[in-house]
Amino acid sequence: AALPTSNFVRQIIDADLASGKHQAVQTRFPPEPNGYLHIGHAKSICLNFGLAGDYNGLCNLRMDDTNPEKEEDEYAAAIEADVSWLGFQWNGKVRHTSDYFDQLHGYAIELIKAGKAFVCDLNAEEMREHRGDFQKPGRNSPFRDRSVEENLDLFERMKNGEFADGSKTLRLKIDMGSPNLNLRDPVFYRIKRATHIKTGDKWCIYPMYDYSHCISDALEGITHSLCTLEFEDHRPLYDWVLDNITIAAHPQQIEFSRLELLYSITSKRKLNQLVTENLVSGWDDPRLTTISGMRRRGYSPAGIRLFAQRIGVSKGENIIDFSILEGAVRETLETESPRVIAVLNPIKVTLTNFEAGVTGSRSAPFHPHHEEMGERDIPISPTLWIERDDFAEEPPKGWQRLTLGGEVRLRYSYVIKCDEVIKDANGEIVELKCSIDPKTLGQNPEGRKVKGVIHWISAEHAIEAEVRLYERLFTEPRPDAIRGDDGQYLDFKQFINTESLKTITAYVEACVKDAAPETRYQFERLGYFVTDRHDHQAGGKPVFNRTVTLKDSWAK
Ligand code: ATP
Ligand code: MG
Ligand code: MG
Repeated sequence: AALPTSNFVRQIIDADLASGKHQAVQTRFPPEPNGYLHIGHAKSICLNFGLAGDYNGLCNLRMDDTNPEKEEDEYAAAIEADVSWLGFQWNGKVRHTSDYFDQLHGYAIELIKAGKAFVCDLNAEEMREHRGDFQKPGRNSPFRDRSVEENLDLFERMKNGEFADGSKTLRLKIDMGSPNLNLRDPVFYRIKRATHIKTGDKWCIYPMYDYSHCISDALEGITHSLCTLEFEDHRPLYDWVLDNITIAAHPQQIEFSRLELLYSITSKRKLNQLVTENLVSGWDDPRLTTISGMRRRGYSPAGIRLFAQRIGVSKGENIIDFSILEGAVRETLETESPRVIAVLNPIKVTLTNFEAGVTGSRSAPFHPHHEEMGERDIPISPTLWIERDDFAEEPPKGWQRLTLGGEVRLRYSYVIKCDEVIKDANGEIVELKCSIDPKTLGQNPEGRKVKGVIHWISAEHAIEAEVRLYERLFTEPRPDAIRGDDGQYLDFKQFINTESLKTITAYVEACVKDAAPETRYQFERLGYFVTDRHDHQAGGKPVFNRTVTLKDSWAK
């Protein structure tokens, strides 16, 4: 598929460089450390770091840490790890909005002195009532006309902790009649006694996003400040703040649409619920499309980057099916993963004429197109495991796999014929007695065609592995957008797929035993699997996660 080479953001950048407005591109990725990053953030990371990379510019990583009660060091550390893992390097050290608390405070004083800000005593309820709505203009706060001296004094005392949380705010004096609600004297400082991950208890007043974000961008020399569409209505405020303080730079805010991935959750708040209510094993549960979950699932950074490239950047709706993500991941894994054989749902095959001339083992390449990956031995013995699905007592039309009296080729080995089916008391097939055609190693049988090829593993040589088979976490494509009879959104958690994790014991080639955690393989004909980042240990019983099935499980 053709990749979008340009998008509207690039067009803006191209024009800005051509006109000389900017000499270089400086972007930033500004997550709030209040949860783990997800696939939506990956889109933003690939966009911001990608643009910086393509234009020879720089991209900052900035922790947007202005809500101390929700933010944690664990999240900040995970964010750094995830951005690095995705393959991006930020410019210099990690930055924090809190690095600028002193400057932000200084600009607040400048705004007060200019008569553009005031301390307000309305509580949240009164404030909402004064604010009006889309139909109704707001009303001025009764505290709007406080003198500069009084405002300076009150703001100083807010900062010094003289007032209770929520009892006073600092507001911009813009326009209570504006059709844009964001411009109706927005609050830009609130009192909040909470220990901050960086500044501890130094501050009890914290700046709001709309105020701190534009100033942080300007202080860092950001040229293009990319954010999601819900901030479009905030852009006039972004610009107002920068236009009303003494600051040279004025970055351009550009909005693009948020990624919504079907069958997945792209909201930290909702992800947090899944984690805290133990509905998943943690933020990195392989069923989650958090970056750490996708990593543990076996997705490669290249696969996620390819996905981000494919979904593009625009202002249009960006609702993407899960299969697009899986397709991109599969495509990158195809070339980079060595192939081994595993049997997930085994049935025993006994080779009745094994003695008759079968010796030694065969060697097979780890990848048909990558010699450099090397080869390994595929030993054979009288007892094999094959997939239960590869045998049918009553085969459908066109069946090319094994059936009673039929022949099939064992991949890398002989053609076998099934002579007898053994069942237990319940009628369940427990064993197939088969015979080898000894003249078919590496050559076609004489006088007949055997089309089917199945994978198998020598029971004597195989090792057991724990394999976790994952399905989509939700039974509904948009679990958080379903309304009940009363028109209210239903709890998305009721649409969790209870079958989304199945743990089985499989047989795999012994060569995987020494694999390090996070080693990716293709299990031939089955899909891509990765050794678990936490539970797999080289030398122990392997633990695999199924990353994604092959597009066509039955392709040869
Ligand atoms: P959440 O609702 O999951 O908390 P957020 O937007 O509040 O998302 P931030 O930590 O503020 O999370 O996001 C950092 C950056 O990632 C922002 O620039 C934001 O616009 C971007 N981002 C977050 N979610 C998505 C998404 N689904 N698609 C594209 N970009 C996103
Ligand atoms: Mg945010
Ligand atoms: Mg959020």
